[in-house]
This record gives sequence, C-alpha cells and structure tokens, in this order.
Amino acid sequence: MKRAKIADIFFSTQGEGIYAGEPQLFVRFYDCMWNCRFCDTSLNAYEKYTPIELYNQIKRFTPLEKAGEGIGKSSLAGFTQEYHSLCLTGGEPLLYKDFLKQFLRLVKYDGKTTYLETNGILAEALAELIDDIDIVAMDLKLPSSTGMRDYWKEHSKFLKVALRRNLFIKMVICLDTSRDDVDQAIRLITRAKASNIPVVLQPNFFELSKDLLARTREIEKYCSRQLKHVEVIPQLHKITRIK
Ligand code: SF4
Repeated sequence: MKRAKIADIFFSTQGEGIYAGEPQLFVRFYDCMWNCRFCDTSLNAYEKYTPIELYNQIKRFTPLEKAGEGIGKSSLAGFTQEYHSLCLTGGEPLLYKDFLKQFLRLVKYDGKTTYLETNGILAEALAELIDDIDIVAMDLKLPSSTGMRDYWKEHSKFLKVALRRNLFIKMVICLDTSRDDVDQAIRLITRAKASNIPVVLQPNFFELSKDLLARTREIEKYCSRQLKHVEVIPQLHKITRIK
C-alpha cells in the first residue's frame, strides 16, 4: 500500500461553507496537481502514513474520557472536546483513492462522521469512496476565478456521484469572475437536478474588499433566481485568524 503524504493533523473550527463554526479534526493531504490562482494552501512538509498509522494518529484525538485514558497519558491531553466530523482536506484528498478506501473503513467502523473537502474533479475516485463519506464540500472551479482551464465535464460527473450524500457546493468569487462562468455553473447544477443543494459563494480572501463583496452579493442575487439556497460566506478562519 502506497503511503499518503500528510501535511498536518490538527483540531480546529471549520471556517468555510455551511458548516462554518463546527469543531473538526482536520487531516490535510499534501498533494495537489492543480494551480488555482486564489489557492491559500502552501505546503512544504509532510509525513508519510499507511492507513492504519494515520488511523492510530487520529485516535489520539478521541475525547480522553471516552478513550478511558487519564489526563497526561497523551501529549494531546486537554483536547477533550468531541468534534463534529473528520475533515479530509488538502491539497486534494481524492488523489489518494486506494489509501482512503482502507482508511475510511477504519474510521467508519468507529462511527465517525466524515467530511470531504474536494476540488470536485475526480469523479471516479469519489464513486469508489462515496459510501464511506457523509458530507461532501465540493468546489466548482470557475475558470475566470482559478486562471485554469474549465472542468465543467468533470464537475458534472462528480456532481452526479456527490448527490448521493449530504452535499454543498462552493464557488470562489474573484473580481475577475465572469458572468459566463456563473451562467455555466447554474446550468450545470440545474441540469443535474441539484438546484435545491446549498451553494456557497466565497469571496476570494486575497481580494477581500467592498467591491468584491458587492460583486459577490450581485452574483448571489443572480444565482438565486434559479438556485434555491445561495449564500455568501467568507472564510471565517482567515478573518478570525485561527488555523
Ligand atoms: S485544487 Fe485546492 S489545493 Fe489545489 S491549487 Fe486549487 S485551491 Fe489549491
């Protein structure tokens, strides 16, 4: 089994999307093959884990009283708060499909809620893992926001699979985000009969300004004509400066 490169394991509060404010245990995968202009993840170190090694690491974050351990037995003593879900983030976690297959089985055996943050591109990998994922936070990459090529076909396939679980969609809005891209995103969502799925518009933190917030609000109004739940939610962890 190929080991996964893990950049970080930490307890914090979700700062994005409709679960913002929920306590989560984050596992940050190191690799990503894309290059979004607004990417805020700069990773330069990792440790390699097998699925069982990673599982043993995250078990150390189990509330101590539940685990039957005394305070002081773990270097993580003090982390007694239960977390809402285990957040797999990156990088792009789905690049580690085979690893995740084994890892998620272990985690689900313990009854943990699993939350996947993903760029919404790797549909085949998602299809193999979807039964063990509870919540999907799916990015829709608008080319005028990312500066990359479009991924409409990939997103369309991905959405069909992701709809099997608890799903919300996130789009990063930049000053350059085009109306054409927003139209294309609305079409893609309505064609998949997903217009009742929550859609979060996230203003690009690096351009955060009155102008960008006003533009994001305009796009929210525009999308709301065809989509039922559209919300503007900035990255709260950035604003509050928590990890
Ligand atoms: S897919 Fe995610 S991690 Fe990769 S470059 Fe884009 S924003 Fe960054």
